[in-house]
Amino acid sequence: MKILLIATAFTLVGSCATPSYTQKIEALKESIVFENPEKVSSYSETITAEALSVHVHTLASKEFEGRETGQAGFDKASRYLKDFYIQNAIPSPLGGDTYFQNIPEAYFNDSSPSSQNVIAYIEGSTHPEELLIISAHLDHLGVADETTFYGADDNASGTAAVMMIAQAFMSAKNEGHGPKRSILFLHLTAEEAGLLGSHYYVKHPIYALEHTIANLNIDMIGRIDPHYEALQNENYIYVIGADRLSTELHYVSEAANAQFANLELDYKYNDDDEANRYYYRSDHYNFAYRGIPVIFYFNGEHKDYHKPTDTPDKINYPLLQKRTQLIFATAWYLANSEHKLNTNKL
Ligand SMILES: [Zn+2]
Repeated sequence: MKILLIATAFTLVGSCATPSYTQKIEALKESIVFENPEKVSSYSETITAEALSVHVHTLASKEFEGRETGQAGFDKASRYLKDFYIQNAIPSPLGGDTYFQNIPEAYFNDSSPSSQNVIAYIEGSTHPEELLIISAHLDHLGVADETTFYGADDNASGTAAVMMIAQAFMSAKNEGHGPKRSILFLHLTAEEAGLLGSHYYVKHPIYALEHTIANLNIDMIGRIDPHYEALQNENYIYVIGADRLSTELHYVSEAANAQFANLELDYKYNDDDEANRYYYRSDHYNFAYRGIPVIFYFNGEHKDYHKPTDTPDKINYPLLQKRTQLIFATAWYLANSEHKLNTNKL
């Protein structure tokens, strides 16, 4: 009996000898299953072009003066976010109505007065200690020579996306379908000055970085770049970084897209020898640098990039909706999957 058992064990080991790379990828892909796809779809539909448009038009209005770090317009925009989270009863991780993570002037090497990241939070129901961070920078270039840099695409588009994703998750929670893991909604300051708000956050994280499972960062997702304009194809998004620290994250993103968004996921800028080096150029990099898997969502540069002409009327709101829904579905999986995201590279 004993001998036979051993023999069987050997046979088993032999028969499932090291699976090939292709087999491992196939097994990984099959393991990514959305448990309640109808819930994902129904909460995803709460993210609408109309609501995104209202937020982008407000954040990129003259009143917010180009949202320059440390200036009155940025503080106004911060209060707009805080009011939004309070109205939607989305709590702050800092307690009470303290939605601001203050960053002292000294941290900016005197390049800016003190400023703040704006942070909201939904606690997970079964793994509250595991955290997903969804981020977008709030700051832009301000006013120069009486000309306002509105930053509608950069990055009122990403800011509005984070707001709507938070609202969709909160609606789900209010109806008993809250995320299993916790989610932090992080609006960063001083990105334009060198990713300083995210750098401050990773130096002073609100929840331990070792329990932060991933960062989805959104920076410019409301426009179409000249490449896709020439192709007359708006149905795309550049996805950067997804496979660099976790093969699973790349396939989660692909599965979410195939099932809920059907955009073309363009990996051109994920190439490490790509000259623009976008992987290193927005806030996600501060998380990736510390080993946290990231995805950076980006529409590419266009003629209004960092110009006063980056205005709300030029945003494609139905497309902004679709891209936001892709990010929501990806976040939903990460926050609700049976096992925590693997950080293996296959
Ligand atoms: Zn930006």
